[in-house]
Amino acid sequence: MILYALVCQECDHSFEGWFASSEAFDRLARRKQIDCPECAGHKVSKQIMAPAVRPSDKALPGKMDEAAVMKEFIRRAREHVSQNFDYVGDGFAEEARAIYYGEQEDRPIWGETTAEEREALAEEGIAAVPLPAPFAPKPPKTAKRKPPLN
Ligand SMILES: [Zn+2]
Repeated sequence: MILYALVCQECDHSFEGWFASSEAFDRLARRKQIDCPECAGHKVSKQIMAPAVRPSDKALPGKMDEAAVMKEFIRRAREHVSQNFDYVGDGFAEEARAIYYGEQEDRPIWGETTAEEREALAEEGIAAVPLPAPFAPKPPKTAKRKPPLN
């Protein structure tokens, strides 16, 4: 059995319903055999959910405005990059290339490139995306840089 959060397309009423399976829900919905408890309409669909952003401890309980949610989202993205990505400083292009060609351990990295390096990477088919400024963490002081090759 599966409990779905549902919404009536006609009156916007939200409700829940138990179904044997996802297929059972689809079948009943197609046959218009699910009734809205509010208006008895049959245009019922599953509610689309977005992940909730848990407010930080400092935030007031209850409402967070959109700007605050966005700010929190960006903060978390930044934190994610700094905790899970290896900072390689301006050796980014070199390191990305080495990973691409299997000369370095495959892992998420971040760092800086020049516009030329970025273009060269793109031409070689090496995927790298520019991180929008608010998403970029502060570079750590102890960058793990490889010694230059030559
Ligand atoms: Zn309804």
